[in-house]
Amino acid sequence: MEVYCLSCAITSGLMAPDGRIVFESEHFHVHQDVAYPIKGLMIVVSKRHVKCLDELTESEKFDYINVITKIRQAQRKVLGIKYVYYFYNEDAIHHFHTWMVPRYDWMYEIGRSVESVRPILLHARHHINTKENMLEVIAAIDSLKKELSR
Ligand SMILES: [Zn+2]
Repeated sequence: MEVYCLSCAITSGLMAPDGRIVFESEHFHVHQDVAYPIKGLMIVVSKRHVKCLDELTESEKFDYINVITKIRQAQRKVLGIKYVYYFYNEDAIHHFHTWMVPRYDWMYEIGRSVESVRPILLHARHHINTKENMLEVIAAIDSLKKELSR
């Protein structure tokens, strides 16, 4: 029996991500997880079921850095995002995916650097999960999508 992999379900189109697809390249898929309503938070998922960076092929590696760069440029241009935190963990339940978490001023009150990431995500989920903020998140997705399709 195949082990269920959410990343495979999303990239194969079996399941819609809990958010909207923002961009797709030959080897990667980019969406926002609206469970964490932070404007411009993007998740970059490989289409192939691999867990570790060193399992990527030459062509996937090239595509990966280009996709990340493209998203980063769009975040800066459209949303004015000055800094982004990136992370991925190779022992994730689902396959290779990189989180791109923008930094906003309110986050510095929660903390800096890697230890602040989880509390910030939880804060977003529980305290800014308002209809008004969600509309802003969706508007940001749409403007990123538009920028990336140019
Ligand atoms: Zn998978």
